[in-house]
Amino acid sequence: MSWSSIIGQHRVKNILRRAITENKVAHAYLFWGMEGIGKDALALIFAKTLNCERRKADETEPCNVCRNCLQADKLEHPNIRLVFSLPTGKSADTRDDSPLAKLSDAQIEEIQEQLRLKSENPYYNLAINNARQIRISSIRDVKRGVSMSQSQAGHRFIIVFEADEMTTEAANAFLKTLEEPSQKITLILTTSRRDAIPQTILSRCQQVYCDPLSDEELSKALFRLSGMPEDEARLIAAFAQGSYTRAIEFSDEDMKRLREDVVELLRAALRRTRYRMGMMHIIERFIAEHDKKQFAYMLGLLLLWLRDVYVYSCTNDVLPVINRDQSETIAKFAAAFPNADYATVIRASEEAIGLVHKNIHPPLILIPLLLTCRRVFLGVED
Ligand SMILES: [Zn+2]
Repeated sequence: MSWSSIIGQHRVKNILRRAITENKVAHAYLFWGMEGIGKDALALIFAKTLNCERRKADETEPCNVCRNCLQADKLEHPNIRLVFSLPTGKSADTRDDSPLAKLSDAQIEEIQEQLRLKSENPYYNLAINNARQIRISSIRDVKRGVSMSQSQAGHRFIIVFEADEMTTEAANAFLKTLEEPSQKITLILTTSRRDAIPQTILSRCQQVYCDPLSDEELSKALFRLSGMPEDEARLIAAFAQGSYTRAIEFSDEDMKRLREDVVELLRAALRRTRYRMGMMHIIERFIAEHDKKQFAYMLGLLLLWLRDVYVYSCTNDVLPVINRDQSETIAKFAAAFPNADYATVIRASEEAIGLVHKNIHPPLILIPLLLTCRRVFLGVED
């Protein structure tokens, strides 16, 4: 991993690299911002760089070949301690207070596998079964490690992933660590829920806000990292709202296929006569074949589509259109309804998306929305 493998975050990268060159690395940081934007990745590259023996370019580029770099990439560097939620152990073994001592072999294997996935992709969110809390035993374990003499030269780090998962007890124990600033140790907490972290901890950290990723940064990353075709990457980026991990979730869905369904449904709903049968048939089929999550995506795609038609009808330009591979169809649609009140249908779509989360039966969301589309585009009440 190098700085360039982190998507976007230029502002934060500059802050951290400057701290390295100016030798002003803080004692404790909080990297906060929405999920899936690279907070853990930033923490890991920062710690790796400061432990590299042969830094290049302004002393801020790790060499990627020294022993320290290789250990850091594998998440096995003795100077970089990782703290994250662990499951509660069932074993009766109470000889040791170590958080791992009470876990079964299968649980330990699972944790190792999860860390391996994280080492391959720092954007990966650890998903360990029944691990919802960072307990005091984890913090004690880290403190014990810190108090032992250092086996390898370099800058020691403690990185707490999703620090909001610390129990109150753990947070208090951690606070004590923060109160004893040690020159050689830097703590980094990452969180997407800053409001769940005690104020006493927040006030002792240098808080670094990490920005959501832009649509362009996301679509370029999808293209570069997963070889996704550009038009599909653009569509998914528009959905991911700044989060790379969310974009990856969407890329498992066949968004283009879902979009075809949306356009087909809109066409059926906007037939001037005898539209009911066709529209109901598509709605029934869609609901039978898809789950609630996909239904929400479908409404999102409808919203994007309507926005695109609106943008095109205002500008006659395909550049701002997200569904650019469908620009011909969008241009035809815009030409067919030159005086439509787009604000009304766009608002109705946004409201419909809000209803999905209130567990309302999908047809009761879709039918009124499509009738609004009929009223707006065709000027008919029914
Ligand atoms: Zn190195």
